[in-house]
Amino acid sequence: MILAGMSLEELEELMSTLGATKFRAKQIHNWIYAKSVSTIDEMTDLSLKFREQLKETAVVTDTKIKVKQVSKDGTIKYLVEYPDGECVETVLMRFDNRANLTACVSSQVGCAVNCSFCATAKGGFRRNLTYKEIVEQVLIIQRDTGLKVTNIVFMGQGEPLLNLDNVLKALEIFNRDFQIGARRITISTSGIIPGINRLADLNLQSTLAISLHAPTHELRKEIMPIENKYNITDLKTALKSYADKTGRRVTVEYILIHGFNDTPRVAKELAYFLKDLKCNINLIPYNSVVENDYKKPSTDDIMKFKYLLEHSGKKVTVRLERGADIDAACGQLRGKH
Ligand code: SAH
Ligand code: SF4
Repeated sequence: MILAGMSLEELEELMSTLGATKFRAKQIHNWIYAKSVSTIDEMTDLSLKFREQLKETAVVTDTKIKVKQVSKDGTIKYLVEYPDGECVETVLMRFDNRANLTACVSSQVGCAVNCSFCATAKGGFRRNLTYKEIVEQVLIIQRDTGLKVTNIVFMGQGEPLLNLDNVLKALEIFNRDFQIGARRITISTSGIIPGINRLADLNLQSTLAISLHAPTHELRKEIMPIENKYNITDLKTALKSYADKTGRRVTVEYILIHGFNDTPRVAKELAYFLKDLKCNINLIPYNSVVENDYKKPSTDDIMKFKYLLEHSGKKVTVRLERGADIDAACGQLRGKH
């Protein structure tokens, strides 16, 4: 049995089958989530005898760090390996000060959505991660660094809304067991409308980010095949209803690809498209992926694009590139060694 990912109630049940008190469950819970240990032997406030008994039925984790890379900017990328040999990448980013530690977690091994600009898509889809496997990624970061993760973004490999049951269960654990506030968690999607509708009904405190990347059907379908299934008009209807139901602003993510979707004309089309949607805009200058020859725009073009959008009254930010020297930036995760 794997202890990581278990709730307090589940641990209490386990304790009762072992004839131990509920208080033991609390101690173990604390060792897993607050102190981030990787073995039962490290749970030193349990008696030696009880630790031996527990070790007969349980281990803390069965997940390993296969490769760890550290970027010049402090970003850390882990290649995480699960017992079946499948791997995903998890990234830890530090912003401004050490008080903000953001984990970028993967939700699937590979991805079936197949966006043209994304490295994850290149390996195809392999399988969904279980909620425990998602949770393990954050535990691995905490065990390795000895630090507490404060923010989580579902922006690693995979499409979270195509594995929504596990993502929601993981979110609940981050919230309840890790004590990471729902407001500090962001789910990013390529635009899976049924998933967006489900999130709207759940009315979570978390942020929904939507990978829009183009303001028209024609342009969007050139880089995102998902546009043929869930088109941009229906997508906007879903987003508006999400914003109405939850009262929350969505984040619109927009990759800037030189000469493709970064011109002043497209900026105006985007501003027009977003006019009646409550949102903030996050521009992501394209990060290079070897399989294609897109280029990122010049800083000048990025600033012009930003200015035109701001002019329409939206809050616009440009995403800082993190960990590009170790292929840990957005879109560069492929989960291979
Ligand atoms: N599958 C989800 C979440 C993971 S991707 C989604 O697509 O939203 C996280 C963000 O990185 C998305 O906005 C994605 O479109 C973007 N991205 C993918 N490839 C990129 C690249 N080469 N350069 C910059 N951003 C990229
Ligand atoms: Fe999948 Fe997101 Fe990459 Fe598109 S950008 S292929 S949805 S991981």
